[in-house]
Amino acid sequence: MIRAGTRDELQPVLAAARAAGRRIALVPTMGALHEGHLSLIDRARRAADFIVMSVFVNPLQFGPGEDYAQYPRDVERDATLAAARGVDLLFAPDRSIMYPYGDPAALIAAPGLGSRLCGAFRPGHFRGVLTVVAKLFHVTGADVAVFGRKDLQQLVMIRAMVRDLDFPVEILDAPIVREADGLALSSRNAYLSTEERPQAARLRQSLERAQAAFSGGEVAAAGLIAHVTAVLSGGNLVRPQYVDVVDATTLSGVERARPGDVIAVAAHVGSTRLIDNHTLT
Ligand code: AMP
Repeated sequence: MIRAGTRDELQPVLAAARAAGRRIALVPTMGALHEGHLSLIDRARRAADFIVMSVFVNPLQFGPGEDYAQYPRDVERDATLAAARGVDLLFAPDRSIMYPYGDPAALIAAPGLGSRLCGAFRPGHFRGVLTVVAKLFHVTGADVAVFGRKDLQQLVMIRAMVRDLDFPVEILDAPIVREADGLALSSRNAYLSTEERPQAARLRQSLERAQAAFSGGEVAAAGLIAHVTAVLSGGNLVRPQYVDVVDATTLSGVERARPGDVIAVAAHVGSTRLIDNHTLT
């Protein structure tokens, strides 16, 4: 695996891959790699023959008081895991390389989609995400990029950006990878205490309860949301932030759920904010 920290290190490697006719896939991450990230590499391998993984904790997508400073960083461990899984090129730039002119004067936003779900509680978050992803698309010139369904709103917004602004990249998604008890893998799970960790599984359990109700014929979003909230609130360390049933493309709330709609949830477990979602079947 080749490692690059700057555009100048990256470009000749990508130019050579392109000249050799290789299809380039990008897997953007913030590092602290786990099996969820690594599964994206497997997905990329099925669609491309040269895989670039980026590791960059993007300051633009963290709000004041969020965990930018504490976010786990271990690029040597990330490099070992990425190489073992088959990444061809690891791009791990410093902040001063990604944003050499300080805070960007131009940003990419999708105000409608970006104000729903997580966006209502994390103003500016998706503007930061879209901006860094756009930069990574330009810097790598990737033919295809892979994102996890764990961050469903992010995936939907990136698809919208690519479609609306004609980015020449194909977006692929990959399913949510979970722990044995159903907790979606997340770099932030490392923040959970031994008391909080079992209660974090309630996010997944709450979504399963809603799916069971939906399978039993309950379609009113309010009823499904009530099931989710009841399971979450059964944990004394769990504080739901939002629960919503939304259309999978527009992310707008629905009153009567149909197969393909998404139940999305965010909750604090102790002081750790976790998200999860489930597509109704
Ligand atoms: P992050 O490092 O949290 O920015 O995530 C980088 C990419 O990994 C995003 O596309 C996420 O959706 C994806 N990802 C994170 N956790 C999971 C998971 N448990 N299952 C699948 N994809 C994931």
